[in-house]
Amino acid sequence: MKVSIVGGGPGGLYFALLAQKAWPRWDITVYERNRPDDTFGFGVVFSDQTLDTFKAYDGPSYEMIRRRFAYWGDVDVVYKGRTMRSGGNGFCGCSRVALLHILHDRCRELGVKLKFQHEVEDLNEFSDSDLVVIADGINSKLREKDKQHFQPSVDLRPNKFTWLGSTRPLDAFKYFFRETPEGIILAHCYQYEEGRSTWVIETDEATWKNFGFDKMGEGEMLPVLERVFAAELEGHPLVANRSIWRNFPTIVNQTWVMGKAVLVGDAKATAHFSIGSGTKLAMEDAIALYEALKKEGEVKRALATYDTARREEVEKTQHAANVSLAWFEHMQRYWGMAPEQFAFGVMSRSKQITWENLELRDPRFIHEIHKWFAQQVKAQGFDGEGRKRGLDLSVRDDERRARVAGKRVRPAQGLGQSKPRGEAGACEPCRHVGKERPLAAEEMGHAGDLEPKPVIAVGVQGGAIAARRPAGEVEKGVFILFGRGRQGEKMGADGAGIGEAEAGEETFAETCRIDRSEQESALLGADNG
Ligand SMILES: Cc1cc2nc3c(=O)[nH]c(=O)nc-3n(C[C@H](O)[C@H](O)[C@H](O)COP(=O)(O)OP(=O)(O)OC[C@H]3O[C@@H](n4cnc5c(N)ncnc54)[C@H](O)[C@@H]3O)c2cc1C
Repeated sequence: MKVSIVGGGPGGLYFALLAQKAWPRWDITVYERNRPDDTFGFGVVFSDQTLDTFKAYDGPSYEMIRRRFAYWGDVDVVYKGRTMRSGGNGFCGCSRVALLHILHDRCRELGVKLKFQHEVEDLNEFSDSDLVVIADGINSKLREKDKQHFQPSVDLRPNKFTWLGSTRPLDAFKYFFRETPEGIILAHCYQYEEGRSTWVIETDEATWKNFGFDKMGEGEMLPVLERVFAAELEGHPLVANRSIWRNFPTIVNQTWVMGKAVLVGDAKATAHFSIGSGTKLAMEDAIALYEALKKEGEVKRALATYDTARREEVEKTQHAANVSLAWFEHMQRYWGMAPEQFAFGVMSRSKQITWENLELRDPRFIHEIHKWFAQQVKAQGFDGEGRKRGLDLSVRDDERRARVAGKRVRPAQGLGQSKPRGEAGACEPCRHVGKERPLAAEEMGHAGDLEPKPVIAVGVQGGAIAARRPAGEVEKGVFILFGRGRQGEKMGADGAGIGEAEAGEETFAETCRIDRSEQESALLGADNG
């Protein structure tokens, strides 16, 4: 079997390694246009979970990565002079060039042929190959040549970013937020090896233009950014490496397969760097393609299996990345928030990490948020425990833990207790079960008497859309959304998904799941008009 792989990035190399290890007699060649030491960028990030996957698939390369990486558990949100630290987030950073060298060495050891400085122009070069893996990255020339077939769509996001490095050591993943006369600018930073850290700088287009970055080359922008982040850099320089300002493209392809050719990695789909998953996705694509070949035993069926079986996971990651990037695109909107609320917003922005996850990871961080939240609630006439005129928003600890562990629980029915998701009409004695029309404020009797300002609106639903109110009516208030789904999704018939409260938009609220933690999550994630 002859296999040709276009692109010697993490996706192409990891597939070559796994396939050669499993099928030593296969003739596998990787074609890479650059030299072995050329690389753009600085470091990449893997979670503990991703490292476990690598360990399971190839112990030797995992061990080599493990020996080189920098590890951290803390994430710092540095905002308006306060540092909010959240612990228990296991991640490692690794230099991209070190990762590629590890994969080169392992490929050579197993017998993969690596051809550098070979730019592939056309798939016709591989007419005698049985399988062609297209892993030529985000701007894939080969995908674009056959775009009629793959039908890629590219959503160019509005924020500007540039990928830089520094010699500044860091003891945690740091988000440095800065307000400047030009606008808000942010650095996403982490150490990837001793004395080396990645600094991805992100800002909106107006701020970028106000700084004049649109007219500056690499050499001119570095001193400007060094001045902006002077306190954070602590005297260390920023380092550039083909660090042009870009807009992130979210890429989706209708199909990943064309005959015996298959897309892998960024060529196939991209996920925004703010969830640090591009390299992980590319290497997991390689694993999925390898698994499909192992299962099906022949190319055509294997590629069809890869295209269907892998899609859900990729789309889930892309969804999380899109929700995360949208948070950064709206930084301005959150700028008035207290540091506690802001930090919670940053940590939970992709809606993959919840209040409960964060509490399990670092109770101290959540305690700080809780304290702040209790003060806000008290200031609005509630007691510190979230009760107002007989409304009990508490949830039993065992129920909360069960939900974190993904189990469904059926608590006793009634006000102040949760009902399992999707069980329409199960919430007795709720008066509003199953209603599919706008709820008037007075109908939301469970919330107690609603005050004109601030408004705390509690909707009640019984499986379908139950509370639907134009946000304009409550734009001056605090609008609490209760929900089980992801922010940004419309509520489905099973009650999954909540809408974001935005002026002028309809807002959906799911409740009957009245509990303190969800109330807090929702309030902290929502706009505080
Ligand atoms: C600012 C920024 C920060 C990021 N941070 C992270 C992070 O922290 N963690 C993370 O996991 N990911 C991160 N990523 C994403 C990550 O870099 C990519 O998602 C990942 O490298 C994708 O791997 P790949 O193998 O698909 O493609 P690539 O790594 O892009 O490799 C493609 C290779 O193909 C070669 N090539 C292209 N065309 C041809 C051709 N015609 N012929 C021969 N060779 C060709 C290229 O030279 C390249 O070596 C970040 C990306 C950006 C932009």
